[in-house]
Amino acid sequence: MSRTQPRKTATPKAGATKTAATKAAVRPKARAADDRPFWKRKTLDEMTPAEWESLCDGCGRCCLNKLEEEDTGKLFFTDVACKLLDHESCRCKNYKTRFKKVPDCVSLTPKEVRKIDWLPPTCAYDLLAKGKDLYWWHPLVSGDPDTVHKAGVSVRGRVGASEKDVPDAELENWIVKWPGKVPKGAARKR
Ligand code: SF4
Ligand code: SF4
Repeated sequence: MSRTQPRKTATPKAGATKTAATKAAVRPKARAADDRPFWKRKTLDEMTPAEWESLCDGCGRCCLNKLEEEDTGKLFFTDVACKLLDHESCRCKNYKTRFKKVPDCVSLTPKEVRKIDWLPPTCAYDLLAKGKDLYWWHPLVSGDPDTVHKAGVSVRGRVGASEKDVPDAELENWIVKWPGKVPKGAARKR
């Protein structure tokens, strides 16, 4: 096995592009205001940098090391976390300057999200890119940043080790399935 090129993802980069402003010379009818939340009425490319950032639920799953089988391209998650991941908050300890210490950390942009295939199935970016909705526990939906932990989606309490303590050659011993699944309670509707 070899490490996947984007073996870690970083949380979002403000990569949204603005749509061209439209000038309607004549508005035949006043349109009802669309009061749906932004992730339901905008495409990934239309989101503002702040909206894009807020899509990250803070689960930390993408900061786990992954392996790719050379022959088949099959992806495996491990529970070995990036050296910069805080195992309790599930956030990056040096988000702004992370590339200095972790050059292969990947900045998520709409284009990247559509291209890569190794985001966990709970990831908001992956869900929206596939035309799905956010789950009830997403902080934007629940209004509570702790629901991602309460629903068992985050890596809190589940990180096996830091990559500081696991040589690359031993990553195979740390393969786990849970980061590639949606926990039962997290999948149900509310
Ligand atoms: S550098 Fe930070 S954002 Fe990137 S993988 Fe590591 S913990 Fe995650
Ligand atoms: S996997 Fe989780 S932490 Fe990573 S970008 Fe997606 S929502 Fe954010």
